[in-house]
Amino acid sequence: MHFRSKLPDVGTTIFSVMSRRALEEGALNIGQGFPDYPIDPRLAEYVQAAITGGHNQYAPMEGSVELRAQIARKLHGSYGVEFDPLSEITVTCGGTEAIFDAIQTVVGAGDEAILFDPAYDVYEPAIRLAGGRAVRIALEPPRFSYDWDEVKRAVGERTRLIIINNPQNPSCTVASRADLDALAGITRDGPITVLADEVYEHVVFDGHEHASVLAHEELRERAFVAFSFGKTLHATGWRTGYCVAPAELTRELRKVHQFNTFSIVAPLQQAIATYVANCPESWQELSAFFEAKRDLFTELLRGSAFQPIKSAGTYFQLVDYGTLSQASDVEFADRLIREAKIATIPLSPFYANPPRMTLLRICLAKRDATIRAAAERLVEFSRNCLERTA
Ligand code: GLN
Repeated sequence: MHFRSKLPDVGTTIFSVMSRRALEEGALNIGQGFPDYPIDPRLAEYVQAAITGGHNQYAPMEGSVELRAQIARKLHGSYGVEFDPLSEITVTCGGTEAIFDAIQTVVGAGDEAILFDPAYDVYEPAIRLAGGRAVRIALEPPRFSYDWDEVKRAVGERTRLIIINNPQNPSCTVASRADLDALAGITRDGPITVLADEVYEHVVFDGHEHASVLAHEELRERAFVAFSFGKTLHATGWRTGYCVAPAELTRELRKVHQFNTFSIVAPLQQAIATYVANCPESWQELSAFFEAKRDLFTELLRGSAFQPIKSAGTYFQLVDYGTLSQASDVEFADRLIREAKIATIPLSPFYANPPRMTLLRICLAKRDATIRAAAERLVEFSRNCLERTA
């Protein structure tokens, strides 16, 4: 049988590739984004209680009523806006399902969606599976700032969606309220919907506030916003997130969601609802928690040839290896796995047309001991390279 692939040029995600290489080479994995420390023990207790308490059958398709009520309360606390849990909030299988469903809801055959590179890897395949085309605008390192005039020029008759990821993974930058105003100006009066991927909403550094699309009175009227409990509760394996959108958009999104995953793991929803009600400090402390890890890591690299580019948000940090090598980032990342026993994530796979750059992404969601061990290996690698060339 001759099988025709719908995504012939798509391989395995760079996250899985690098994690597999880390295992093969026995390298310390600070690439793929996941914490290596335990979850809050209260959260584990709540899951057990939910299972023994009988929350083991299908949850409602839209998400458990208790959890959606808690999400609405949490959103009000963060952004000062009341959302209707019944008609505007849908619980999804991680932020990824929220993103996939929103794209399927909006993009049809021949439609265009605008993305910013370095773009998180799920967006483009989801657009293509919907029959659409991704129009990718490259943000230039090291600042990765938006050029809104360029975006205006990229908008055409077929544009139906603009995806903004804020805080942005993997550039580790944040968008400002002025960026959102510019985006609102571009989408005003047209048929363009916005998808805001805000899974790192609680990880914004140096005293800045997260500029959420939900706090933007104009944009939120035309936006799907994706969130993740995996990031907020340090439990990426729980695959639990949600999508917030106006009732009309939510109605359409649920048509996709109900035939995609139908509903999300019931005891986890129950446990998260209890946790969100009882432990609001857990996410209020996240920025400080990761900022301390960012500062520890960058301090430990001081004096080495790895130049950190100060992360403004997300639980990642970029480092520039340009003074050590001009090899491509994919090659250099593999060399680091083999020689320094450190797995990172190269940046070029997130671009349609990568600019010249020598940047690797490392994950800060690690125990301080892991961060120290990783920095030590990088510093030693840098020293050995410099000695060899001296
Ligand atoms: N979000 C995680 C990251 O950026 C990876 C998720 C995945 O492995 N698909 O590293």
